[in-house]
Amino acid sequence: MNARVDPAAPDARREDLRAALSDVRGRLERACAAAGRAAGEVDLLAVTKTFPALDAALLADLGLTAFAENRDQEASAKVPEVGALRPDAAIRWHMVGSVQRNKARSVARWADEVQSVDSVRLATALAGASGRALASGERDEPLAVLLQVSLDGDTARGGCPIGELARLADTVAESGELSLRGLMAVAPLGAEPGPAFERLALASAELRRSHPAATEISAGMSGDLEAAVLHGATRVRVGTALLGGRGLASP
Ligand SMILES: *Cc1c(COP(=O)(O)O)cnc(C)c1O
Repeated sequence: MNARVDPAAPDARREDLRAALSDVRGRLERACAAAGRAAGEVDLLAVTKTFPALDAALLADLGLTAFAENRDQEASAKVPEVGALRPDAAIRWHMVGSVQRNKARSVARWADEVQSVDSVRLATALAGASGRALASGERDEPLAVLLQVSLDGDTARGGCPIGELARLADTVAESGELSLRGLMAVAPLGAEPGPAFERLALASAELRRSHPAATEISAGMSGDLEAAVLHGATRVRVGTALLGGRGLASP
């Protein structure tokens, strides 16, 4: 595995992460400037999937407070580990991978926000799970939700078709256990990201007509964050450019 922390040499890893974070912050600043947006208007989420808890702790030391994972099994172990390593860090965890309904209860224990809500059935399962976690004291605020949008109609890769977003948004907004914050998308494979992110921006404008507080647009990864910022992303989700390659087995 490349770019893994050697426990004997965390200082070297810390310096690698510091340099990578500085590069990514520079890209974000230039992208904001090019888009005529204020620097700092776009939040950076570190996607720590496949990387150890210590990497997340080192990134927290460097000032990052928003982290994302894409698998419940990995995250439900890693989140408490990071909490034990950095008990005073105010970290928020985001689920960005597809959620099976039978994992809703587990996800509601560790995630502050689920960005990959793409069906009424999943929203209903997460509302029930969030309600139970609130009742048992495992969480103290409703689960924040972004609706994942399919930008190319290939819903096999996750995402709700744009035409079905309004009904899904109403379901989430009517639930007292969920809090609707906005939209998330992944650019289509093998296509220019710009036009896809433009469709996402239009869907966001449409959503805000009936749900004015749902202002977040989570779009842009290591390879396409500039295009996402140009089209109004409020958050980018960056893994590889911060932490290094994940190898072939872990897309
Ligand atoms: C892995 C992942 C990312 C980060 O991708 P990189 O190309 O490594 O920056 C962003 N969003 C989602 C949904 C992911 O699964």
